[in-house]
Amino acid sequence: MANKYNTKNYDYLIVGAGPFGAIFAYEAAKIGKRSLVIEKRPYIGGNMHTHSEHGITVHDFGAHIFHTDNQEVWNFVNHFADFNNYQNQVIANYKGELYNLPFNMNTFYEMWGVKTPAEAKAKIEAQKKEAGISGQPRNLEEQAISLIGTDIYEKLIKGYTEKQWGRKATELPAFIIKRLPVRFIFDNNYFNHRYQGIPIGGYTQLFDKWLASGLIDVKTDTDFFADKDNYLKEFPRIVYTGMIDQFFDYQFGELEYRSLKFESETLDTDNYQGNSVINYTDAQTAYTRVMEWRHFDGLADHGKTIITREYPQDWDRSKEAYYPINNEKNTATYKKYAKLARAHEDQVIFGGRLGLYRYFDMDQVINATFNRVKQEFNLPADYRFDHNY
Ligand code: FAD
Ligand code: UDP
Repeated sequence: MANKYNTKNYDYLIVGAGPFGAIFAYEAAKIGKRSLVIEKRPYIGGNMHTHSEHGITVHDFGAHIFHTDNQEVWNFVNHFADFNNYQNQVIANYKGELYNLPFNMNTFYEMWGVKTPAEAKAKIEAQKKEAGISGQPRNLEEQAISLIGTDIYEKLIKGYTEKQWGRKATELPAFIIKRLPVRFIFDNNYFNHRYQGIPIGGYTQLFDKWLASGLIDVKTDTDFFADKDNYLKEFPRIVYTGMIDQFFDYQFGELEYRSLKFESETLDTDNYQGNSVINYTDAQTAYTRVMEWRHFDGLADHGKTIITREYPQDWDRSKEAYYPINNEKNTATYKKYAKLARAHEDQVIFGGRLGLYRYFDMDQVINATFNRVKQEFNLPADYRFDHNY
């Protein structure tokens, strides 16, 4: 009987047109392999998808700032778009008080009036002592207090973190807060990475190029689970970037995720909040942050601005999974799925944030794709993805 989907003798079915899926397809095409990419959303790009409105680039799934120390990844993405020199500088609003993020001498001055690194360190040390924190931090709360003391924890971390993750800071892993730098210099750069920026005109253009080959067909509005059995029957090799627990019918139970809701508004002003991102760090405000898109690339029609409020919400099967919650319980469940995945490795490659259940940034997911591509096509260990477009 004729195949329903594998009509062109495709080498790969790729589930998901986010960075993992799209770059895998791109690299496979370079060595002559055909792919069918299916994507359940109406467009490509995964959570990096952007669109343009009133001359403003809007990131549909929250602010995406490219930041990395990985030169190969940076060269690679710069080949497909011109990046601006955007540097993220976030303001925190705690009940009307404004503070600079990440935690640096500006924050310490605003919080305590201290003017030197020695004064700031003494203040933190005293608060840490008073809170009785010593030794290896066991959770996010202890980690935060041991890094920057109780005042900053109470005003800038606790409320934000507990609404973002929907659980107590004492029930969250310490590593989450270590994403943010703590600096004893006056420097508001949100990231420590050497390379930073955003593609002028947005991220979707990269995906248009990655998926442009005649060896790649893309079908949007197509969910793998609408016909999983036929896909499995027809494709010898599948790259799967959806949720790993869903792939295995949740047989070991659901992994937990955090979902988000985005609400956007176009306003008749050219400058609403004076900064690209303002975090609302109190527990009462339902949203965590407000993005004003024109400040990310400085381009816009006169007199218009677009803002997006980001609301965290509980995940259930009717919602999009955005963040894996990498605590002990979920890690243990994930290990069972990962073992099952290894038993399917002859046919299925699991990749990306949801396939590997990992809090990946874009550069990390691209690097993970490079490594998986090297393995799949037996490329030499020193193969460079930024040398051979
Ligand atoms: P995704 O981009 O999620 O793509 C997976 C694709 O698979 C999706 O399009 C999905 O619809 C599709 N799919 C899933 N299941 C199916 C199915 N059953 N059938 C068909 N298609 C399916 N990273 C940074 O480096 N910097 C940032 O500033 C940054 N900000 C972020 C802000 C937010 C709010 C979020 C949520 C993420 C942010 N990230 C950031 C992380 C970044 O989005 C991810 O690293 C990256 O998108 C992961 O790529 P991926 O290919 O694994 O998954
Ligand atoms: N965080 C916080 N207050 C803030 C910003 C971040 O407490 O104003 C904490 C919160 O727990 C968050 C983590 O730091 O989940 C990492 O922040 P990041 O901005 O990297 O989060 P992401 O962009 O991945 O959502």
